[in-house]
Amino acid sequence: MTCLICPNGCGLMVREKEGVYLVGGNRCPRGVLFAERESEKEGIRWIFQSEVPFLRYPLEEIAPLLEFWGLVPDRLNEDRFIQGSPERSLYRTLVECGGERLILEQIEPDRADRHEMISRRLDRLSLAGLPVTPFRRGREGRAVLREGGRAWQLTPFVEGAPLNRRDYWRDEWRGRALGEFLCALYGEETPDRQEEPFDLVGFINALVEKIALRHGELLSSLVPVLHRLEETLFPRYGEIPPVLGHGDPHPLNIIWGRDRILSVIDWEFCGAKPVLYDAALIMGCVGSETPEAFDGPFNRAFYGEMKKTIPGPWLGLLPDFILAQRFAWLNEWLRHGDGAMVGQEIRYMNMLL
Ligand code: SF4
Repeated sequence: MTCLICPNGCGLMVREKEGVYLVGGNRCPRGVLFAERESEKEGIRWIFQSEVPFLRYPLEEIAPLLEFWGLVPDRLNEDRFIQGSPERSLYRTLVECGGERLILEQIEPDRADRHEMISRRLDRLSLAGLPVTPFRRGREGRAVLREGGRAWQLTPFVEGAPLNRRDYWRDEWRGRALGEFLCALYGEETPDRQEEPFDLVGFINALVEKIALRHGELLSSLVPVLHRLEETLFPRYGEIPPVLGHGDPHPLNIIWGRDRILSVIDWEFCGAKPVLYDAALIMGCVGSETPEAFDGPFNRAFYGEMKKTIPGPWLGLLPDFILAQRFAWLNEWLRHGDGAMVGQEIRYMNMLL
């Protein structure tokens, strides 16, 4: 079943183990509640548990952490929908402090330095007037609290208007706004010189080897796609100029207002990316919503903006880049063991071909 509590729409799988029904595929604990409620509607009263354990902390444990930011929490709001992928942090919750709402996240301790770097980037982008939400800085101007082997960050909560997954691809204004945002981002920030741009070709080759070993039955449907990319994109991939890319500007990682972008979130994957990377991700994701969406108003307006910043010789490679990038999504569905999405992804890749 698909969890419908939030727009992430996780594909849930339930399996029985010693009388307990384990829920997998859920990216947060609320997926278990959804499975429970749906089963109750069918008159089934099973005991559900998440296959992957999720962290939870009481307010008493959270309160001392917030002293780092000079805040005293009133309450935690664990049930509030927080936009962005829950998989980017070990734990996250909405904290209410004296009328302010903030998102507290526990991150992997070895990502703390990277998050300090991202926080400096977000500060610069915010100063330049881009719609981003910088992390709250605490003691000594640091954005990340390291405490007892754990690392935490705090971000103001931005309330957006929900994105209608069925229809948003019809919205020209969203495509234009996102295109304008990326053009401004590429104009403001440059990647670190020492950072190697993401090697999509290497990623695809490694994935295909893995597929050959573990999912050989999928290979025949991927061969035409690989042949095409070997002729078009792969030989020129290394020459595509890098930019400081967002890395995952999926429309679900945008907090949308009624007619503008309020905040672009989830900067975990930002870094040196070929100039086609973000554009391919957006057009590919929007296009995957429904067959008419690929050439719909969102994508057309977005492409119109991106034409202004992507150098002409590279723009022609965008369709093949979109195709190549779908391998990352295929990897995601394989990782989650979501057979239905694997099949859908391969059909989509062949449609793009
Ligand atoms: S992130 Fe959580 S609430 Fe959202 S769809 Fe997935 S399991 Fe459901």
